[in-house]
Amino acid sequence: MKIISNPFELKEYLKNKNETVGFVPTMGALHEGHISLIKKAKEQNELVVVSVFLNPTQFLKGEDLDTYPKKDEADKHICKLSGVDILFFPKAEDIYGDDEVTINAPKVRGFVLEGNSRPSHFNGVLTVVMKLLNIVNPTRAYFGKKDAQQLNLISLMVKQLFMSVEIVAVDTVRESGGLALSSRNAYLSVHERQEALKISASLHSASMMVSKKILDSKEIVKKMREILSPLEIFYVEVLNRDFEQISHVEIGNTVILVEVKVGTTRLLDNIWL
Ligand code: AMP
Repeated sequence: MKIISNPFELKEYLKNKNETVGFVPTMGALHEGHISLIKKAKEQNELVVVSVFLNPTQFLKGEDLDTYPKKDEADKHICKLSGVDILFFPKAEDIYGDDEVTINAPKVRGFVLEGNSRPSHFNGVLTVVMKLLNIVNPTRAYFGKKDAQQLNLISLMVKQLFMSVEIVAVDTVRESGGLALSSRNAYLSVHERQEALKISASLHSASMMVSKKILDSKEIVKKMREILSPLEIFYVEVLNRDFEQISHVEIGNTVILVEVKVGTTRLLDNIWL
């Protein structure tokens, strides 16, 4: 496995490669969720590039940029074991300069749900993803369905800016109890980890209701909020795949999203129905 930190060196290295390239962008502290993206990329491409970059611009002031779990050596080891060809490990100054050109998230979809409580978050996400895609120029790029709003906005950016990369959505990997894997789970105490199970329990209950033909969004949200109580809820929403509110679940075109605070940790999850 080759480790490169300079964007120009990586561009140069990839320039004359004729192989298909699968790209998995991450912020590190890799877990089985990230590994499933890497596996998918390996299945579908001849060359796999993973980036580990804790992107400062997607954190708001006072958020956890400085305390975000950092496991550089373990990440390198995991990438090597997972058969990654190139690990891109830039520093912030390799990616950002002064007086930056930035991508603005769309005015509606970028500022609802997670974007409502973290207003500049998706500007930072789209800007770094644009930069990374331009550096790697992959055939396909892999993103988790767990971050459904992020996936939706990246797909929208790629479409609206006529970019040629294919965006591949990968299913959420969970612990056996149902908790979606996340680097931020490392912040949870034993008690909080137990409390966090309410998130997947609420989503499970929604999918049970739908299987019993209870499709009314309000009824589903009410039940989910009961299960999530007393956690602080940022949102529970039933949306179509274009992220518009719908009064009833439309099978094959619905995503139900939750974001809550457990202790001091924001956790998000969703199901696609
Ligand atoms: P992060 O390092 O948190 O920025 O995540 C990097 C990528 O991994 C994103 O596309 C996430 O959506 C994806 N990801 C994170 N957690 C999971 C999970 N539990 N299952 C599948 N993909 C995930």
